[in-house]
Amino acid sequence: MSGRWWRPRDLACALRIRAQEPAVCVAGATDLMAGGWDPAGSYLDLSALAALAGIRETEAGIEIGALVTCTALGRHAVIRARLPLLAQSAAATGSRAIQNRATLGGNVMNASPAADNPPVLLAYGAQVRLASERGLRSLPYEEFHTGYKTTACAADEIVHSFLVPVPDAGSHQYFRKVGTRRAQAISKVTLALAGQAGREGLCVRIGLASVGPVPVLARTAAAVLRAGRTAACTRERLQEALQADIAPQDDIRSTRLYRDRVAFNLLKEALCGFPTWSDAF
Ligand SMILES: Cc1cc2nc3c(=O)[nH]c(=O)nc-3n(C[C@H](O)[C@H](O)[C@H](O)COP(=O)(O)OP(=O)(O)OC[C@H]3O[C@@H](n4cnc5c(N)ncnc54)[C@H](O)[C@@H]3O)c2cc1C
Repeated sequence: MSGRWWRPRDLACALRIRAQEPAVCVAGATDLMAGGWDPAGSYLDLSALAALAGIRETEAGIEIGALVTCTALGRHAVIRARLPLLAQSAAATGSRAIQNRATLGGNVMNASPAADNPPVLLAYGAQVRLASERGLRSLPYEEFHTGYKTTACAADEIVHSFLVPVPDAGSHQYFRKVGTRRAQAISKVTLALAGQAGREGLCVRIGLASVGPVPVLARTAAAVLRAGRTAACTRERLQEALQADIAPQDDIRSTRLYRDRVAFNLLKEALCGFPTWSDAF
């Protein structure tokens, strides 16, 4: 049997095909090419859909189309100025050649726990928008990854865009990917943090990659920091809290022990951005 390839220009047409055919979505194809094509398979090429393209500033935040590539994110003036962590994570995603094709929608749908952009989407509190013939729905990105390589995107849905709130002026932002090399390496641990000092504690969101089956939002560690510099917020307490959030494993790239330690070291480094906290841990 020969395969089928659709390349609609219109979102409604794409959503109709998505609802009726078990076709695999194709964006930049960097992951799909690595996995190999099925000559008998059905593919829905999204690359001509203008509705999934572009970066726009709105009152609610910055809207980023699912088809926006890592190169475009890394170079875009608004992203660099207002969401700098996303420019950094995009520039850390594979090689230049990969970045030229790899899309943000494809990066989250590939759903690798080691992907570089999800920790930043978590730290910024992004929403992901999913389109289907039933309409457009929005959900917090922290609810998107439901298990190892599984997502909340239904079989008839397409990732449409992301809405990323702009952090307040003066907020502290941090991103670091630790890999075997500084380029073209899959992460051993990645941590992104965004937020600010409140009256008592820190109001931060902390996203991590490569420390569990899905990208992780470190809620327990954030709660400890939010409580302020009280007796409850010791180095031991923060380390325990972060360990409760993550579930690192041994694999070919690293060990559980290394990941545990490096995740905490990255968190401590991120907290150095808050002057009165830099010596706390
Ligand atoms: C050599 C190499 C190095 C890499 N290095 C890194 C790295 O350092 N960091 C990193 O994070 N990633 C890395 N990757 C992974 C990859 O490049 C990214 O995951 C990329 O962002 C995927 O985007 P894409 O547009 O190419 O997706 P595609 O390959 O087109 O699709 C990926 C998956 O997402 C689905 N999909 C795509 N778009 C949509 C949509 N809008 N709606 C619904 N489903 C969709 C597809 O059906 C498929 O399942 C690397 C890949 C390669 C081959």
